[in-house]
Amino acid sequence: MQIIRARVLGMCMGVRRAEELARAAAREAARVGQRVYTYGPLIHNPQAVAALEAFGVHVLDTKAIETSTKELPDLKNTVVVIRAHGAPLAALSRLQELGASIVDATCPRVIKSQRLARRYEQQGWQVVLVGDPHHGEIEGILGHTSSAIVVDGPTTALQVAEKLKDVPCALIAQTTIRQEDYDAVIEIFQTHLKTMTVEKTICPATRERQKALVDLCAHVDAVLIVGGKNSENTKRLYTSAIECGMPAWHIETADDLKAEMISFERIGITAGASTPDFIVDEIQKALLTMTER
Ligand code: SF4
Repeated sequence: MQIIRARVLGMCMGVRRAEELARAAAREAARVGQRVYTYGPLIHNPQAVAALEAFGVHVLDTKAIETSTKELPDLKNTVVVIRAHGAPLAALSRLQELGASIVDATCPRVIKSQRLARRYEQQGWQVVLVGDPHHGEIEGILGHTSSAIVVDGPTTALQVAEKLKDVPCALIAQTTIRQEDYDAVIEIFQTHLKTMTVEKTICPATRERQKALVDLCAHVDAVLIVGGKNSENTKRLYTSAIECGMPAWHIETADDLKAEMISFERIGITAGASTPDFIVDEIQKALLTMTER
């Protein structure tokens, strides 16, 4: 059996950078006797979160910071790493009030969206964020403005656009949504609004992985999609593989491998933007071992 990896797969620049910053913070904290937390899970991948935990990087409950409803650990003498999604300004202030030092690992692309949102708001535009209102990145950008609103698809877009028809609106997309979904919202706003501007904030990382997967499908008989079950971009890779007509499996670890997967002559592997390299390596090694049995 031949195993072929996608040309582009696995962790994106922003997540890789955040993980490196968290590990560097943990090494320094161990030296000076501090504790390290991340503001929510750093990566949408349970194995990567467990590996960080073993390295001394713990997860802080973001809701406890934002709502003050849950009990918090003592944050004096701690370092809190802000994940690639970013965080609301109020959460950063609260962390500092509670005594934490902050290492900001917000992805530079997300920082750009936060800055755009602030600038448009200061200039009098109504900021409209297009994406999932419960996603950390959207919650973070929202928390960098005082009046931005979120639109999660055509139905909400229509309701909002009808109300805002005389208001100049600036549209900013969540970095990980699909261009087609953004385009559908843009079209609705264009039909209803007199003045609007659209920012191209979708990150190419997801698209690059999708494109590499489609190319891979032309050269293999089945595909393994590696990544957390809670990772949206990994789920989308799986859907694309099925749409390419491929037998495909979404797996998290080598434990999810099944005997039927080695019945193919050529099997492709790709991984979502939050999947660490070590998991892909483990899966490839385990597949080879299975074929040798
Ligand atoms: S997907 Fe893009 S925007 Fe999001 S963390 Fe990765 S590099 Fe940054």
